[in-house]
Amino acid sequence: MDDLQTRRQRAMGRHVTTFYREPVHVVRGEGPWLWDANGRRYLDCYNNVPHVGHCHPKVVEAIAAQAATLNVHTRYMNERVVEYLEALFAKFDHGLSSAIMVCSGSEANDLALRFAQAVTGRTGLIGTDNTYHGNTAAVSQLNASKVPIGGYADHVRKVPAPDNLNPVGGSRDGQGAAFAAHVKAAIAELEASGHGVSALIVCPYFANEGFPTLERGFLDEAIAAVRAAGGLIIADEVQPGFGRLGSHWWGHEKLGFAPDIVTLGKPMANGHPVAAAVTRPEILEAFQESFKYFNTFGGNPVSAAAAHATLRVIEEEGIRENAESTGAYAVSLLCDLASRHDCIADVRGSGLFFGAELVEEGAPATALCDAVINEMRRRGVLLHSEGRHDNILKVRPPCVFSRENADLLVDTLDAALTAVRAAR
Ligand code: PMP
Repeated sequence: MDDLQTRRQRAMGRHVTTFYREPVHVVRGEGPWLWDANGRRYLDCYNNVPHVGHCHPKVVEAIAAQAATLNVHTRYMNERVVEYLEALFAKFDHGLSSAIMVCSGSEANDLALRFAQAVTGRTGLIGTDNTYHGNTAAVSQLNASKVPIGGYADHVRKVPAPDNLNPVGGSRDGQGAAFAAHVKAAIAELEASGHGVSALIVCPYFANEGFPTLERGFLDEAIAAVRAAGGLIIADEVQPGFGRLGSHWWGHEKLGFAPDIVTLGKPMANGHPVAAAVTRPEILEAFQESFKYFNTFGGNPVSAAAAHATLRVIEEEGIRENAESTGAYAVSLLCDLASRHDCIADVRGSGLFFGAELVEEGAPATALCDAVINEMRRRGVLLHSEGRHDNILKVRPPCVFSRENADLLVDTLDAALTAVRAAR
């Protein structure tokens, strides 16, 4: 029998993505831990999907109980999805009280773009030049590195993403104004080319951009310009949402703005494929008048039960609060580590979404970052990289991560950095 890696590529394509030079063959998970096929345990510092911990018993039980009772496509009437959405909307302000449930963040963003186009009657879109919002044909137009088949279309404009070490406009203080100036230029171009502006879409934590440290109000000037041009604001909360940032439930709350549409995914049902586009009722109405949308699986009773159980666990087990306190502790350990390893040029983050940017001789240390990630994997700690140059160590564990887990992460990182640099 061929090994699993060979069979996987044969069945799923040669370019199917896998993490690490020696991919981990996982067979079991619990809390922040994963086990491989040989029984070895790994500390999972990267999986944001099992938000309340791998295989949380209450989520598992909710899925099993609902699957044993009823699961149907979504044209039947059942209370599960309505109960869930009512509970979810209680977590939002700004009149965000209606939604369409889907199965992936990509679908949610695809819908969000269509909501904006239905309301504004325009097609122009503005996003950042170093992001990822998903894989549908429309959403791929926004992606930085995964170029859509046929290339980029003319109705999308990409503005420079904010950055800590190379801020837009050259200074951290002036970054908000410089970002807004690029947005204004994009608006002018879209208007001149006849597309007009339907929306600005951003992850309010700029997660895929390298999670720069931004002041509350950073987006205000850019948002005002988009609104003045008649466009909507889409907050892609697929990564920062549901309390991961610690201080707030949502990234847009932390940054202090009111989105018209919020998209959700990854952590929403702890691993069950559940996502949503949430918006104000009048926006949903405008979309539904223009298009009869139907999603066979989106918000089915089992998905809704999984999402509702996850929401309850976040509240009952103080998941956001843990993200806040454990994240702050871990960042303090990383800052201490930075004083001993000069290749750590910046430590940043919020809650349980943090990391360290590696720089050597004034240049992004991409190769070092890759070597460290693989060395960490060999030592039993799983994390990955981020950013324009893939030189940012990105830590984004299940939010049941403890102080002991943070100690293990940082001690292992200390040893891995030392070993990798010594081996050169
Ligand atoms: N938005 C953001 C910000 C993401 O990071 C991702 C996935 N990495 C998506 C959307 C797409 O989500 P999915 O893979 O569930 O389609």
